[in-house]
Amino acid sequence: MKVDTLNHPTSKNYIAGQFKDHDYKKMDVFSPLDGTVISTVPLSDNKALEEAVAAAQKAFPAWSALTMKERVQIFFKFRTLLEENIDELTEIVHIENGKIRSEAKAEVLKGIELCEFACSMPQLINDQIQEVSQGVECRTSHHPLGIVASITPFNFPFMVPLWTMPNAIALGNCMIMKPSELVPLSVQRIAELLKEAGLPDGVFNIVNGDKVIVEAICDHPAIEAVSFVGSTRVAKIVYKRATSNLKRCVALGGAKNHLIVLPDAHLEMAATNIAASMAGCAGQRCMAASAMVGVGNIDHIVKRLCEVARDIVPGSSLGSVISKEAKERIERYITEAEAAGAKVLVDGRNAVVEGKEGGYYVAPTVIDHVTPDMAIAKEEVFGPVLAIMRTNDIDEAIRIENSSNYGNASSVFTQNGGMARYVMDRVSAGMVGVNIGVPVPREPFSFGGWNESKFGVSDITGHSSVHFWTKLKKTTTKWNPEAFTNWMS
Ligand code: NAD
Repeated sequence: MKVDTLNHPTSKNYIAGQFKDHDYKKMDVFSPLDGTVISTVPLSDNKALEEAVAAAQKAFPAWSALTMKERVQIFFKFRTLLEENIDELTEIVHIENGKIRSEAKAEVLKGIELCEFACSMPQLINDQIQEVSQGVECRTSHHPLGIVASITPFNFPFMVPLWTMPNAIALGNCMIMKPSELVPLSVQRIAELLKEAGLPDGVFNIVNGDKVIVEAICDHPAIEAVSFVGSTRVAKIVYKRATSNLKRCVALGGAKNHLIVLPDAHLEMAATNIAASMAGCAGQRCMAASAMVGVGNIDHIVKRLCEVARDIVPGSSLGSVISKEAKERIERYITEAEAAGAKVLVDGRNAVVEGKEGGYYVAPTVIDHVTPDMAIAKEEVFGPVLAIMRTNDIDEAIRIENSSNYGNASSVFTQNGGMARYVMDRVSAGMVGVNIGVPVPREPFSFGGWNESKFGVSDITGHSSVHFWTKLKKTTTKWNPEAFTNWMS
């Protein structure tokens, strides 16, 4: 089956290399661009999961017995196929998620980069070997865990599945993917292209659904590890449930990212970066700038930022938010902040795109004189909204950042290296930027926040993910009987 986004495909589970017509209740999938139904998705239960686990168990012995170099050959081919199908993949992301085409394409390109990291796995994994006493050698080797699962959110339907799948599979695991039920199509196309690249049946499987299937994954005794990306509320549920069932788990949650802006910041670089960070992907990024703390007089930066924000137009340079409920939630935060005394400088409420009146649009919104106690200053809004707080004291700005329950990203804008360093050293966030609105660490660096933005020890990508998806064997050998016998021999 080739996903034809124009013909409203029915999303299906993918088990043992086949799309399956399970007889489950189906949920409509809407394109947030115009509110039309583009697909349906089955709300699966444990029965489909059992089938997927059985397929993965059947595939695991042969897949894990291959060398790493053999396994990554699939990802070299897969990468080529992604490039060949880039326009179609872009269109699927655009239609199911609502981000504009240039952002959808950037998401696909980032997915290709993630694939390249998996291709380089044989060069990256350097197992150790050392003669630890006369004639006795110790060595470490990385081994796959077995059957693993990945649960993903709506905001990056193509990229987030590629945060986990290529690394986990290249390292010898078999995977069960549970995409967001709001955006099930990109992952279907990924499954088809993996098959075309030669991935053996059962190594990658998809079970669609909602909370029911997520709970079944967390409870299944044959699943060794669960990775989760989504809201903090659900990350906590998944982390507690998976680890209480003695599984390895890394669960990435939501965010409230602070930008600390000093008056000496480069005006154009700061204004354009901040606007792009808060409005890009309609603010539906866990790395989006959502709170800004100005230290001293930053009026000139706010003025220019508002000009840039006003030039971002829904429907052309700004995509939709995911749903009617999301639009209402975002607009409610703006209205409540205004009622509490904040000043709306750029108002994105009630945005409508001509010809797409059924779509869910919120235009960029800049709100000044927000106070740290307001909900808009503390909670994740997940829309193109920037809440600006003011202070005259850098330590107070850092205190505001540190008081957040989250800790995904934080950035400082200044041209003073000493001040940048002062802030970098003190903010409580896993990913920190200087003069960068979206400080995403690119491969081979790993991605992961602090505090309630991530539960679990490892990060989800890069070098750190190798530790998450493997277990270490430590082997000690002795082949020379004539060697000195010590306490260890
Ligand atoms: P979500 O938590 O609603 O859903 C994520 C996944 O969990 C989906 O697959 C969904 O089906 C499942 N799920 C939903 N409710 C559940 C429940 N009660 N029990 C078990 N499973 C459940 O998140 P979302 O709305 O799809 O995505 C947006 C959120 O994801 C934002 O909070 C955003 O910050 C976060 N996010 C974080 C990162 C990160 O790297 N930290 C990256 C992307 C998105």
